[in-house]
Amino acid sequence: MTSPSPRRIRRLDPSTVQRIAAGEVVERPASVVKELIENSIDAGAGSIAIRISGGGIERIAVADDGHGIRPEDLELAIERHATSKIDPDDPLEGIVTLGFRGEALAAIAAVSRLRISSRPPDREGAAGIEVAGETAASRFTGPRAPGTTVEVTDLFFNTPARRKFLRSPPAEQLEIARTLERAYLAEPSVALTLESDGRAVAAYPTSDDPSDAASRVLGPDFLRSSFAVAGEVPGGRVTGVLGRPPLAAGSSRGLYLAVNHRPIDSRPIQQAVRAAFGDYLPRPRYPVGVLHLDIDPAEVDVNVHPTKREVRFSRLREVAEAVRRQVRESLLAAPRIADLSGHALAVPALRARAPRASAPIASARATGTIERRSVQRALGATAPPRAEVGAPSSRARLVLLGCLDALYWVAEGEDGLVLVDQHAASERVVFESIRRGETIARQEMVEPVTIRLTGAERAALAAHGSEVARAGFDVAEFGPDAWAVRSVPSFAGRRARAESVIEMLDELAAGGRPTEPDGLVERRAASLACHAAIRAGDVVSAVEFSRVLDALHALDDAPNSCPHGRPIVIGIPRSRIDRWFLRSGA
Ligand code: ADP
Ligand code: MG
Repeated sequence: MTSPSPRRIRRLDPSTVQRIAAGEVVERPASVVKELIENSIDAGAGSIAIRISGGGIERIAVADDGHGIRPEDLELAIERHATSKIDPDDPLEGIVTLGFRGEALAAIAAVSRLRISSRPPDREGAAGIEVAGETAASRFTGPRAPGTTVEVTDLFFNTPARRKFLRSPPAEQLEIARTLERAYLAEPSVALTLESDGRAVAAYPTSDDPSDAASRVLGPDFLRSSFAVAGEVPGGRVTGVLGRPPLAAGSSRGLYLAVNHRPIDSRPIQQAVRAAFGDYLPRPRYPVGVLHLDIDPAEVDVNVHPTKREVRFSRLREVAEAVRRQVRESLLAAPRIADLSGHALAVPALRARAPRASAPIASARATGTIERRSVQRALGATAPPRAEVGAPSSRARLVLLGCLDALYWVAEGEDGLVLVDQHAASERVVFESIRRGETIARQEMVEPVTIRLTGAERAALAAHGSEVARAGFDVAEFGPDAWAVRSVPSFAGRRARAESVIEMLDELAAGGRPTEPDGLVERRAASLACHAAIRAGDVVSAVEFSRVLDALHALDDAPNSCPHGRPIVIGIPRSRIDRWFLRSGA
């Protein structure tokens, strides 16, 4: 038992206060690098050289060619809450510098040995200051070109608890490299170099072209398969360049966001970008690229996070929605079939020896318009004279040749090959049925599957139960806290997919999936359709193939795209195939 009497309250001594405060700003070597780069950019530097050793734990040196620090201000620079960046008359309004809290150098000084030498352009030489933890600052002078060098050695030498949590030097170096990427993509007008233990690790030259900057970080392939984004958002603009769906990554780290040239993290914006890609991306993939938001500084509060990694938007929902719309429009406007044929047939020798052949393969125009036609015309344009699969009608009939990766149906049409995305095709059929208020046929589960639902999922089920049922899912309450999935849509392949019910309810709770055109009813229908449809990976019989194709034909002028905008049918004319094989007369 502890003593029942209360313990005394004491004031912390200033050095403890300093170290506690420092802990919020300086988490690891990368945080030091981030703060120092920001200071150099704020000082108008054109290029910044970063040198580290031992993953930055032993030493970090950041040298810039900026406007420097006046010698008489050196002590103030490392004092807490001292800054040159705030207008005393209008303290926290419309901040346009990266720094403003006057904390970084003080925080770094509190947990390392810090040395600053700086020369403003109008002075003869450099003046410097050196501190280590609580020791008094000492001064020095020396020659230097105009600019500032900040050196940080022995990080956390006086805070062993922090030091213990550092990772290996290579892991810390990686974080630093990543910090450089973020800084560069947010402000590519400033050149950055990184040298680690004497070896050059990264060099990012000044660039005024966002695509060029992006490709320096994301690799040259990025440019070949990316699209530009530009448009209005409330209070400003969004611009940038994003990778096309095939480039999507396994984590959200490949999407770089910046607000007014400040690298930021923002889940809502991140999610908006992902939502814009919609069904173009399978579940665990994330968009890659760079997006800049240039927004009236009065509309963003950057003073919400000690490391300023997050910002608060005064109109977050509107901005996120505008980002989603702009990204989606750009994605849909960009030619999308080009990379399909390009990827499948990128044969360098072929291009080198027969320049004529490369044009139609790489050209987006040849097939770029196909998804804008109706699905019937896309199918009909390739109708073969003989009918072997299903199809009671006289409309387009295809000879099913096989299936690729349980995903694409490969068929022979009148004019060549026809590829059908089985998920997109079935999804469009189910979507149209749901929109018309029809009931999707269901199949009973041999053994009902029990699932648990969160509050939001329960609410979504309560609100949209009848739509869920019409989509073919029979979900009934089953004892306290549990629900039983007793049937699933008959389209839904052979696999029972209880988890798909949960995903669907999550989407319904969030308002459904993004669709073109937008609309709440459409979004919900798209969500239901996506989960009720044949999925990628489902093995489908020829009977089901013809059932889906017949249903597609029966639709009134439905677009040749799934509800999320991906194409359903792509025809590859025989003439093009001939050209690929360099057949004469083609
Ligand atoms: P803040 O950046 O929030 O002002 P810091 O502690 O990071 O706070 O820096 C304190 C001050 O030191 C800055 O306001 C700036 O005047 C000066 N300073 C720091 N680094 C540099 C640099 N590389 N070049 C010029 N001035 C600098
Ligand atoms: Mg700063």
